[in-house]
Amino acid sequence: MLTVTQPGLWCATGGFHIDPSRRVDRALITHAHSDHARRGCRSYLCAQEGVEVLRLRVGREASVTGLRYGERLEVNGVAVSFHPAGHVLGSAQVRLEHQGEVWVVSGDYKRQADPTCAAFEPVRCHTFVTESTFGLPIYRWPEPGLVFDEINAWWRSNRERGRTSVLFGYSLGKAQRLLAGVDPAVGPIFVHEAVRQFLPAYAAAGVNLPATDLATAEKVAAARGEALVIAPPAGGEFADMSGIGGVSTAFASGWMLFRAARRQRGGGRGFVLSDHVDWPGLMATIRETGASRVLVTHGVAGPLVRWLNENGWQAEALSAHPVLAAQTVVDAG
Ligand SMILES: [Zn+2]
Ligand SMILES: [Zn+2]
Repeated sequence: MLTVTQPGLWCATGGFHIDPSRRVDRALITHAHSDHARRGCRSYLCAQEGVEVLRLRVGREASVTGLRYGERLEVNGVAVSFHPAGHVLGSAQVRLEHQGEVWVVSGDYKRQADPTCAAFEPVRCHTFVTESTFGLPIYRWPEPGLVFDEINAWWRSNRERGRTSVLFGYSLGKAQRLLAGVDPAVGPIFVHEAVRQFLPAYAAAGVNLPATDLATAEKVAAARGEALVIAPPAGGEFADMSGIGGVSTAFASGWMLFRAARRQRGGGRGFVLSDHVDWPGLMATIRETGASRVLVTHGVAGPLVRWLNENGWQAEALSAHPVLAAQTVVDAG
């Protein structure tokens, strides 16, 4: 049903691409991260919850259509539907059905709790195309509640020492998940413009986030070490934090599982919080789909493909393709 072409996954029968890497006529988009959603396509189809954030990514003028989760649309004889992926607001798995055959393309997904987006729903299929950003048995995420306890304790202890807390996380998804999990009683919260631009879409989707203000050096300095600043890793003015007094930095990402110790020596903390599925989550999900065939993309495919083939599945890596290989790990875990 799907083949890998130069712009990415292509459904010849339906006449559409999924998350194409270049301009195509008809693009089905799993979510609005920049390695999945690109400008310039003639039309976009995505989950309804993701329409607003996708427009911010591909431009107001773009032709974007949303489907409610689970709603079916016939596209040239292929039944298309979107199902929650639990990755970021509006993220979806794409289900395709044609002549009794069902494929599901996961996009990026996670199985852990995240109050800022609809929870992942396993979808039965014959062929499952899964991401494997963290496709190694060493990747097992701690409980998000415990991670937020650590983050809040770090913020409190910084405040007691009069140091501003600057927490780096990807601007779409991770930053809002951080906002939803931090304790607003500790102090004022400021967000970088790159984070703030997405907040109206979250509010419109009914996601409850604490009150925040735009992070400027003056406002943060005026909070005299009590504030938390949430900024993307390439945080513009917050890459240079001179002028706001003492600062403690931290990074929230799945990659922090093994980088935490090293970063700590450099003065920054690492918090293990990922929007991607970990190894136990991959195993559970693949079983729940009931798929006999698994195609692995978007990350380290080799070990997962080997494990699946040794344990009764028919598995293959899609990431051998140069275009898909080049897409790996752009959205920072
Ligand atoms: Zn993503
Ligand atoms: Zn991705």
